[in-house]
Order: sequence, then structure tokens, then C-alpha cells
Amino acid sequence: MAIRCPGCGREYDVTLFQFGRTLRCTCGQLVGLEHRVHPLVDPASPRFIADAMLGRLARWLRTLGHDTAYDDAIADEVLVRRALEEGRHLLTRDRRLFDEWRIGGGVLIDSDRPLDQLREVVRALHLPPPGRLFTRCRVCNGVLHTVDTEEVAGRVPPRVRERTRDFAACATCGRIYWEGSHTDRMRAVLAGLFVRL
Ligand SMILES: [Zn+2]
Ligand SMILES: [Zn+2]
Repeated sequence: MAIRCPGCGREYDVTLFQFGRTLRCTCGQLVGLEHRVHPLVDPASPRFIADAMLGRLARWLRTLGHDTAYDDAIADEVLVRRALEEGRHLLTRDRRLFDEWRIGGGVLIDSDRPLDQLREVVRALHLPPPGRLFTRCRVCNGVLHTVDTEEVAGRVPPRVRERTRDFAACATCGRIYWEGSHTDRMRAVLAGLFVRL
């Protein structure tokens, strides 16, 4: 099968357009698939991959419990491939990326403020209000599991250990999390965000 350049009619083999890739024809036209390729996303538990400019947005999505891949040095091609192969919504601030790769299911983020970016994602994909927060590591995306007070000895400040009963640890990086005024604030911010859509 061949893809025809809309400018000069020159034909290109379809395999050149894998993952929605486009190419620049010798006549100057951008050539690509007519329709975007869509990652196979699960609406019940959407997963994301965020571009290098969206690190703080990635952390908020993880706070909401969403599996969100993020790497601050990831190349466009890898970003797109992972979105398609792993069924993730691609989140990017880069319009050029959306033109050069005909991939669907993504959100082109406009704002440079993390919470406004989150609002854009929630709106665009109709994300439901969060259920349980803090099930996933904000830093590495690993899944959190409950740990006993004894297990966190030496790994959290002594004052925190005296006051807190519920700790969670990241299965991937080992980071310890606990409830406190910081999580109360985050909960309030997120509740407000989902109310004022
Ligand atoms: Zn051409
Ligand atoms: Zn972690």
C-alpha cells in the first residue's frame, strides 16, 4: 500500500508512517496518514504519558491515582511509541509534535500552570472526580502499599512517626508517604478543581 503526497502525488510506502509518523516530501508538503492512529486506552482507568515540559502535571495525575509515565529527557518518537504501545493518552505542550505525529487520544496542553493543565486534561477527557487519592508515588509512578510504623523507623522524621499511624511506601523507589497538613491541602486543591470545572 502507498500513501500519496497531497502536493505532487509522489507515492510513499505505508510502512514509513508507522506510529503516525509524517515525512516531508521532496516538494515540501508534509505527508502522513489521513487519520490519526489511536492508542487503545481504557476509559475506566486512563493512563498517561507526559512530555518533558509537564513534570508537575504528571505529579498531580499520579496524586489522583493515574498511571502517568514521565521522563524529562524522552524523545518525541519514544513518547509517541510508548503512548501507542502502552495505551496511554499523550500529553504535550508541543503543537509541532501533534503535527509531525498523527496520533489520537492526546491532549495538547495550553497553560503553563500545573493545576490549569490538570483542569485541561480533566475537561478534555472527561475524567471523573477522584476516588481514593495517594495510591501512587508522585515521584516515580510506582504503586503505594501500606506499611507499619515499625517499618518506617529511621526513614521518616521522629516527630512524624510519633504523630502518624498510617504510612505508605512506594513499591518501586521505597519513598515513604504519610497523611498530614500537606495532603489535606492537596485534597482541598483537587476538590476545588473538580467543583469549578
Ligand atoms: Zn510531494
Ligand atoms: Zn516511587
